[in-house]
Amino acid sequence: MAYSYDDQNIFARILRGEIPNQTVLESEHALAFRDIHPQAPEHVLVIPKGPYVTFDHFALEASAEEIVDFHRLAGQVCALMGVQPGAGGLGYRTISNAGEHSAQEVPHYHVHILGGRPLGPLLS
Ligand code: IMP
Repeated sequence: MAYSYDDQNIFARILRGEIPNQTVLESEHALAFRDIHPQAPEHVLVIPKGPYVTFDHFALEASAEEIVDFHRLAGQVCALMGVQPGAGGLGYRTISNAGEHSAQEVPHYHVHILGGRPLGPLLS
């Protein structure tokens, strides 16, 4: 599957510093920042710095170093939020929309991390 990456998407522009963001954490290969329309008291987006469109694109084409770095940063965001169930927190949810059927709005791979309130069942 060949993906074409639109380098004018809003997250590409955030990565280039053209649009401000509320950075939570940053690493060599990933950036975590607050969602502009939070759906929970804590709502952070984690994005790779490379030009990947979806989860599968990233998982199949990114280097092992990028994949590890991205997930390590996402884990650090959970720790910072204080939501880790294994560390006394009340939990969180990760979501990644991909493509038309999931209503992906921004065509740059991202994981939403939501916490700070009961989130209810995902599938209903
Ligand atoms: P998607 O539907 O999974 O693609 O979600 C895209 C998310 O990006 C939405 O939750 C938006 O609120 C969020 N978003 C869009 N523009 C910005 C921005 O400039 N800063 C932070 N979040 C944004």
